[in-house]
Amino acid sequence: MDDKGTVIVVGAGPSGLAAAWRLKERGYSPIVLEERDRVGGQLLTIKQDGFLMEARTTILPEAYESVMRLVGDCGLSDQLLPAAYLMGFMRDDKMHMLRANRLALDAARTSLLSPGAKLKAVRLALDAFQDAQAPLLRGSLLSERPRL
Ligand SMILES: Cc1cc2nc3c(=O)[nH]c(=O)nc-3n(C[C@H](O)[C@H](O)[C@H](O)COP(=O)(O)OP(=O)(O)OC[C@H]3O[C@@H](n4cnc5c(N)ncnc54)[C@H](O)[C@@H]3O)c2cc1C
Repeated sequence: MDDKGTVIVVGAGPSGLAAAWRLKERGYSPIVLEERDRVGGQLLTIKQDGFLMEARTTILPEAYESVMRLVGDCGLSDQLLPAAYLMGFMRDDKMHMLRANRLALDAARTSLLSPGAKLKAVRLALDAFQDAQAPLLRGSLLSERPRL
């Protein structure tokens, strides 16, 4: 494939690495700049005494279709480890269990979040939903606009 030129990607977190991978697929030569001495951004896996520990980002829900597609395209699917849906969050010496596959329901019931925080989460979800719909709405408005 012809080299379409160099693209500078700032940050070697998941977004930067994904962008660089897709750019390379399309014939560009990405250069990724990272200020830390490691790649991965918020992802940090520690190997110690035969254990694998995730210090930050932990779960990769199957519902993240584009991420799952990228993992497959990179040939890394066989490195995914199936995990249970149950997640524990420790607060004030109490473990709060949430199910990743019933997150909205469990988040609504849990005492981990205050009523105010739950309300903010609902608003955030509504905003995110409206934002996701926006291109569709814009598209339908444009298609309804009379042609000049
Ligand atoms: C505690 C925690 C837990 C999380 N758990 C999950 C989880 O379980 N599942 C999940 O899907 N998501 C989780 N997330 C969210 C996930 O980590 C982020 O969505 C993801 O890391 C975002 O990727 P990113 O590349 O956009 O940013 P980042 O991961 O933040 O990467 C940005 C990179 O850019 C570099 N950078 C920034 N500025 C510059 C600069 N000027 N020059 C050079 N380099 C620069 C940074 O050093 C960093 O390496 C969690 C996040 C946190 C904080």
